[in-house]
Amino acid sequence: MLNGSPNYLVRAAAHGGLVRAFAVNATAVVAEIRNRHNTEPAVTAALGRLATGALLFGAMLKEPGHLVTIRIAGNGPAGVLLASANGAGEVRGLVAHPRTEVDQVRNGKLNVSGVVGTQGRLTVTRDLGMRSPYVGVVELVSGEVGEDLAHYLASSEQTPSAVGIGVFVRATGDVEAAGGYMIQLMPGVADSVAAGIEARVRELPHPTTMLRQGDAPEDVLARVFHDGFELLARTPVRFHCPCSRERVDRALLLLGETALLEILEQDAPRGVTEVTCEFCGEQYVIPSGEIQRLAAAAAERA
Ligand code: ZN
Repeated sequence: MLNGSPNYLVRAAAHGGLVRAFAVNATAVVAEIRNRHNTEPAVTAALGRLATGALLFGAMLKEPGHLVTIRIAGNGPAGVLLASANGAGEVRGLVAHPRTEVDQVRNGKLNVSGVVGTQGRLTVTRDLGMRSPYVGVVELVSGEVGEDLAHYLASSEQTPSAVGIGVFVRATGDVEAAGGYMIQLMPGVADSVAAGIEARVRELPHPTTMLRQGDAPEDVLARVFHDGFELLARTPVRFHCPCSRERVDRALLLLGETALLEILEQDAPRGVTEVTCEFCGEQYVIPSGEIQRLAAAAAERA
């Protein structure tokens, strides 16, 4: 039903710029991540929430080429989850273990904290094109992802934020809806304004309930800002992995001559080496002659 709805993100401001707001429909994006990683439902929800969060964080970047990566290393069986988005609305993600032995549903909800874990760390890395990236780390508070991201914003970046993120997975395992919102209070916002916004956010239906009712991202914000808001940007969002044969070659080169010669020997019977991108599943088949050439180039560099 929602797979036809356009996937895009809106960035908005209200109350003279003292309140920032973001909302996104990422249904098709999360569906593609699920298909590429063949995740079970609870992991689909966990990784989908993280990818949606990365898109919302990406909307705070100033330049399209800037990058934000959110990594969760929890004590659950899914292992490390990672999502990376740029300022142009492109996102990709990966999970160490797409399938676990955990009950997928608990108390009528997808068991996200059961696969992520309730203890561990959330790390946000912002690459703003400077010499070194900006990195912030917090402990997980629930392993439900949305709460953990809100906790990060409040404690690591001192920005009180309401974060609502959801992924609705059908019984078949398909993604029916995915998206969310993020509302941030800037310093100087009046207490009465903050209280009014907090009350309306608390009354909001679940993000996927709104999406499944047909709400566009603007409609979600209109439920919070009864006096209106200023739409600053509307950006299409999509799954995109920037991997390429050239990047694979560069990564192989970094392994060095010894490791490349080992790969060459190991793959000699087949005459090719296969490299799979862990973000998108793309397979690169590299003839042994090319590995030999890279080994020679690595030797020259050393
Ligand atoms: Zn890739």
